[in-house]
Amino acid sequence: MQILQLADYSIYVGDFWASFQAFLHEKQYAKTLVLVDSNTEGACFEKFREQFPSEIYKIVVLAGEAHKNIATCQDIWRKMFEAGAGRNALLIVLGGGVMGDMGGFCASTFKRGFDFIQMPTTLLSQVDSSIGGKLGIDFFNVKNSIGVFNNPKAVFISPEFFETLPPREILSGFGEIIKHSLIADVEQWHKILVINDLSTVDWTEYLVPSLKIKQRIVEIDPFEKGIRKALNYGHTIGHAIESAALETANPLTHGEAIAIGMVCEAFLSHILRGMPQSDLQAISRCIVKHYGKYDIEQFDADYLVCLMKQDKKNEGDEINFSLLRQAGEIEVNCTATPHNIKESLKYYINS
Ligand code: NAD
Ligand code: ZN
Repeated sequence: MQILQLADYSIYVGDFWASFQAFLHEKQYAKTLVLVDSNTEGACFEKFREQFPSEIYKIVVLAGEAHKNIATCQDIWRKMFEAGAGRNALLIVLGGGVMGDMGGFCASTFKRGFDFIQMPTTLLSQVDSSIGGKLGIDFFNVKNSIGVFNNPKAVFISPEFFETLPPREILSGFGEIIKHSLIADVEQWHKILVINDLSTVDWTEYLVPSLKIKQRIVEIDPFEKGIRKALNYGHTIGHAIESAALETANPLTHGEAIAIGMVCEAFLSHILRGMPQSDLQAISRCIVKHYGKYDIEQFDADYLVCLMKQDKKNEGDEINFSLLRQAGEIEVNCTATPHNIKESLKYYINS
């Protein structure tokens, strides 16, 4: 097991159960609650229960982004009342990024906040959403528009939860691992380039390097004033494609959309920041190898650009990008014109 020490909490990676027991023993919480969704209740709760046989109050909510909303929060808060949770309670969030964001938000706001820990169960939540302190829900059709910054008391990460995870969810998290390597760790990028079959990967090797990149960036810039924007690589175009795909019969997962965004933004990096052609080719080949090609021609390019303009990370009319100077090196606060963006969409279509 490895421990990453952040300013005010630790992330335990690997066989963490002994550390988890020690954490609980030290804290002596008056009451312990666990939040699961309708999938992790079946897939992960039994594993958890074997290690935590003590009294616990279980809150179950429906799985999926569609339920990451104020109605589900009200349900969670109500159950917190029923459980008699007070300031000396602990919420354990056992689920993916939807539970992590929403459970952390509910714990942070209930009676002005009580402790929570993250036990992320998807690849995406283990390498990305469970650290960095961003918590919240979707509101008014805008993703993550209501929320707070607040850190958990600890994060417990183990690939043992992947045994039940659908392959598409692995692919989704893999997108963020690719992103972390491209923005800051060229060695990890070279390791990724030789992966051919995701079903045989030992994810333990990738979790810690990926977490370290996110840790380093969020510690320098916890409130996204500057360098944290590096984490948006692939996300400006990716988010627009994710939103457009959401309105179709075949929505994309977050990581699948971001993967397409990374190809387009690699093209922008090449034409606007001089990223070598060889890096551009390697990025698009790697992504197409694992994700295949998705039909983005079904979306009107002007509509996609319009969605990008609405992104809350933009200031004024300009569309903000984080672009690569080369694989492993990122530059924040770049801008691109609608023409450049449409060219990058064409590059993906022809790649
Ligand atoms: P998710 O939580 O919806 O999980 C994906 C699916 O897998 C769900 O159906 C879930 O029930 C199921 N699942 C989870 N663990 C399982 C397991 N071990 N076995 C079987 N099924 C399992 O989605 P996600 O991809 O983990 O997270 C996406 C969310 O994370 C989005 O809401 C996004 O906004 C948020 N996010 C937040 C941050 C942040 O910094 N806070 C960063 C990135 C993403
Ligand atoms: Zn992301």
